[in-house]
Amino acid sequence: MRIAMIGSGYVGLVSGACFADFGHQVVCVDKDARKIDALKQGKMPIYEPGLAELVGNNVRQNRLAFTTGLEEPVSQADAVFIAVGTPSRRGDGHADLTYVYDAAREVARALDGFTAVITKSTVPVGTGDEVERVMRQTRADADFAVVSNPEFLREGAAIRDFKHPDRIVIGTEDERAKAVMAEIYRPLYLNRAPIMYTERRTAELIKYAANAFLATKITFINEMADLAEKVGADVQEVARGIGLDNRIGSKFLHAGPGFGGSCFPKDTLALIKTGQDYEAPLRIVETVAAVNDQRKRAMARKVLAAAGGSLRDKTVAVLGLTFKPNTDDMRDSPSIPLITALQDMGAQVRAYDPEGMEQAREVLPGNVTYADSAYACAQGADVLVIVTEWEQFRALDLEAIKAAMKAPVMVDLRNIYPPDEAAKYGFAYTGIGRAPVARNRRLPGYS
Ligand code: NAD
Repeated sequence: MRIAMIGSGYVGLVSGACFADFGHQVVCVDKDARKIDALKQGKMPIYEPGLAELVGNNVRQNRLAFTTGLEEPVSQADAVFIAVGTPSRRGDGHADLTYVYDAAREVARALDGFTAVITKSTVPVGTGDEVERVMRQTRADADFAVVSNPEFLREGAAIRDFKHPDRIVIGTEDERAKAVMAEIYRPLYLNRAPIMYTERRTAELIKYAANAFLATKITFINEMADLAEKVGADVQEVARGIGLDNRIGSKFLHAGPGFGGSCFPKDTLALIKTGQDYEAPLRIVETVAAVNDQRKRAMARKVLAAAGGSLRDKTVAVLGLTFKPNTDDMRDSPSIPLITALQDMGAQVRAYDPEGMEQAREVLPGNVTYADSAYACAQGADVLVIVTEWEQFRALDLEAIKAAMKAPVMVDLRNIYPPDEAAKYGFAYTGIGRAPVARNRRLPGYS
């Protein structure tokens, strides 16, 4: 199959490279000339494990190419994927579909012969209908079918997720488009990945429902963590105890500083807006978004408490800036509101992240100091805060960290250290949902 991928960001680049690896002929298009120039030189615009090798191999074997000009690859393609951004629209939280519709118009002008046009971007229900209308308006004579094929890959494990998906969702009722999609995903079908064909609107909603459900799961365990702290229980054990129930499952039950990243925050907001537009309010998702927002500030108060109630002129060492490990993505990372709040409280912030510092500089306040290792970050600090659970933070030399710090105070927002291990090294330790408090406190209402 000949594939044109419109948008060579996280999803476009990973999907394009994986499709090429399946044996298809892929051209990744992006209007960002700097990105395309870099890709042509073998430089990846994002940090994603294994991506540089995958791209390099497929470029060398002439199955993968990059360009800024969409006309030629689209005119030759059997399938055109739209994988452009759908950020939150400023002010109201709706998904901003400008990039999708602009791409649809450009694609319509360049089509030649029957082509499946597939939205891989996360788009609200009904966007496929609108893409079809916009394309028809641009080129009444074009022969195409618009398909929804939402992407479920996770940053940091994107290639594995793409090649071993839990399922592939394809929304179309057009038989010719179904045949194209079946051929594109045939290698995964051979790997027994379930392919689910459904109606286009249903496919669009599946993506939002999945993200909203996962965001709910995270928020649920975060609230349980808050309660666990108050009643003297351990949220890690609670998560294990409920996660072993097959009906619940153990994934996405790690209490932490609240969800962030390029998808959950914007997708929950967009889904809430869709619910409001269709007068089917999504109260649970609304609450999830609100609770998650409040949590960011609450994390700064946790640091404040660990520091003894004042952060004025104290140095806080922040380990991990990206919204999760194994990515350099800073979009909506919990570290951003946390650091801003710490600075508002009078703290000097020093930070270290293994891959995301360049991106962090663009979005964090200017007066953050950057260190070149976890140990340099801890030097002279009054509090150490672990924000992202990078592998290299899991086995720090706590002796050396303690020796470097002014005071041995650790706030572990990812629960990567057992409290007693941290205590063994002399740290005053604060985790999430497992404060060793109130064990003998009486329940409210009993005296
Ligand atoms: P991104 O911002 O990394 O990439 C989008 C790219 O599209 C940019 O490089 C931009 O220059 C390019 N672009 C925009 N308009 C274009 C046009 N007309 N022609 C050519 N290129 C154009 O975004 P992303 O993270 O890859 O996300 C893309 C979509 O996939 C979003 O809808 C997102 O919600 C969804 N998604 C993302 C993830 C993820 O983990 N990042 C996972 C699943 C789904």
